[in-house]
Amino acid sequence: MLNEIKKKAQQIKAKPVVAALNKNGFLAEYFDSPEDALQRILELVPHEGTVGVGGSVTIRDIGVVEELKKRSALTVYDHWQKGLSSEDILEYRYKQTQSDVFLSSSNAVTQDGKIVNWDGVGQRVASMIFGPRKVILVMGTNKIAPDLDSAIKRGQKIVAPMNSRRLAKDTPCVKFGKCGDCNSPDRSCIVTTILHKHPAGKQSIMKFHVLLIGRELGF
Ligand code: SF4
Repeated sequence: MLNEIKKKAQQIKAKPVVAALNKNGFLAEYFDSPEDALQRILELVPHEGTVGVGGSVTIRDIGVVEELKKRSALTVYDHWQKGLSSEDILEYRYKQTQSDVFLSSSNAVTQDGKIVNWDGVGQRVASMIFGPRKVILVMGTNKIAPDLDSAIKRGQKIVAPMNSRRLAKDTPCVKFGKCGDCNSPDRSCIVTTILHKHPAGKQSIMKFHVLLIGRELGF
């Protein structure tokens, strides 16, 4: 009973955001569970060609990378995989921007369907804007922000500090719990992007899918 109430509450929270994303030209869908979203991703990614996987805790948590790597004719550019040299990592990042499909999460989405991200290197946000013919973003409802201002603040308050902690970086947000607009070489919030609408609008040949899941996933 409690689970059903929680499920309904998530659906109510997500429904207007999905509608707003679709109005902005994205192909947005809602899923009650990561398992349901995983099945949809596996349908959307072809069995051959190339797929780039951006730096995303959500994507790794739902287990999709392992499933895609089982496809013998599909090359997966996953720069988080173990055993890569720093040259390989850089090469994989470039390959992601030129892949047939780009799969990642997003750091925030507003109630009115704008997609907001922060990046340190920049290939993740670049790949969402131009290059891959299909983009699939997957995110939990914890990424919903009421408006653009709070979505942008989410970057400095949650995303950059959590990423810095995850990577044991030496930044003021980790040391003091507060952003110092730092000059640290470890700074992870270097690029901020806002997708107000589907990139290139009606001119675009890119299919941009957004899968919103009624769970707390990533940060
Ligand atoms: S600017 Fe520096 S201190 Fe502020 S959130 Fe980014 S990494 Fe942390």
